[in-house]
Amino acid sequence: MGEVLVLIDHQDGRIRQPALELLTLARRLGTPAAVVLGAGDAAPAIAAAAGEHGAATVYVADAPEFAGCLVVPEADALTQIARACTPTAVLITSSGQGKEIAARLALRLDSGLITDAVDLKRDDRGPVAVQEVFAASFTVTSRVTQGVPVITVKPNAVAAVPEPAVGRIEIVTVEFSPAATGTRVVARTPRAASGRPELTEAALVVSGGRGVGGPDGFKVVEELADALGAAVGASRAAVDAGWYPHAQQIGQTGKQVCPQLYLAAGISGAIQHRAGMQTSKVIVGVNTDPDAPIFDLVDYGVVGDLFDVLPGLTEEIVLRKV
Ligand code: FAD
Repeated sequence: MGEVLVLIDHQDGRIRQPALELLTLARRLGTPAAVVLGAGDAAPAIAAAAGEHGAATVYVADAPEFAGCLVVPEADALTQIARACTPTAVLITSSGQGKEIAARLALRLDSGLITDAVDLKRDDRGPVAVQEVFAASFTVTSRVTQGVPVITVKPNAVAAVPEPAVGRIEIVTVEFSPAATGTRVVARTPRAASGRPELTEAALVVSGGRGVGGPDGFKVVEELADALGAAVGASRAAVDAGWYPHAQQIGQTGKQVCPQLYLAAGISGAIQHRAGMQTSKVIVGVNTDPDAPIFDLVDYGVVGDLFDVLPGLTEEIVLRKV
C-alpha cells in the first residue's frame, strides 16, 4: 500500500490530538507518513509520538519561514514531499489554516479536494470520504477522481489509537516559492487561556443558549464543563446578547464541533445551531419546553430547568470523581 501523508499539527512542542486521529485514519488507507514542519528542537519528540501512532516515515522540515510567514511555506513543503513520494492521499486537520493549506496543495497537484470529512474508508478504487452536508441533514460519501486525494478531516472524527511503527525520520530541505514570504507574521497575541480544551477539538462540549437568561447564567454551564473537563459553547442568541464571547459560538455562522458528547442547555435547537453540532456522537438536551426542536435531535433529553438540572449533574459528577 502507498504512503498516506499526514500533516502533523503541533503546538508548544507537542503533537496535537487531531494529528493522532489523522494517523489512526491514515492506517485504513495505506502506510501513514507524518509531515512535521517548523517544530525546531521538538521535532524528534513529535516524530516519536507520530511513530507511536503508526507513522512508518516522518518527513521533518524546519526553517524560519514556517513560524514567520502564513500558510504558503507549509503548502510549499507538502507539495514538494507529495511530488517526491506520490502518496495515496494527503490528510490535513479541518481547521481554518488546514483547509487553506489543503486548497493550495490540491491546486498545485492538480488534484481534487474534499473538506470537513467525518470518516474515511477505502474500497478497491481508493479512499472514500464521508461528509455531513446541508447543515448535517445528509450524509454523503465522495471520492477524488483526479490526482492525489487531498482530504481535510474534522477533529474527533475517530478516537486516536496507538499502533507503534518505525517512525524513521527523513530530513527534507524545502525550496520555498517567492509567495512563501509574501506575508509575514509581525506580532502574535496569545489568547487568554481559559484552562478548558479548544472548542473545535474538545471531546466534550457543554453549551448554553438564551435559556441561561444572562451572562451570570453561564456560571452553571461553566461549572458543569469544568467538572467534565469539557469546552464551553454558546448559541448565537447568547453571544449576540453579549453574554458569552463570539469565539465560542457554535453553528452555521460560528464554529463546527463534533465531540463525543454535546450537552445543549437552554438552546431551542434552531437549524443554524444544529449545523454546528449535529454530527456530535451523543447529544443531550436540557430544556423547559418539551416541544423544543432540540428534542428531535437528542440521544438523551431532560425536560427541566437548567438551573436545577446542571448543578445537580455537576454535583453528581464531582462526587463520582472523589
Ligand atoms: P432560543 O431559540 O430563544 O431558545 C432558548 C431556549 O431555552 C428555549 O427553547 C427555551 O424553552 C429554553 N429555556 C428557557 N429557559 C430555560 C431554563 N431555565 N432551562 C432550560 N431551558 C430553558 N444560531 C446559532 O446558535 N448559531 C449560529 O451559527 C447561527 N447562525 C445563524 C445564521 C443566520 C443567517 C440566521 C438567520 C440565524 C442564525 N442563528 C444561529 C440563530 C438561530 O436561528 C437561533 O435564533 C438561535 O440559535 C437561538 O438561540 P437559542 O436556542 O439560544 O435561543
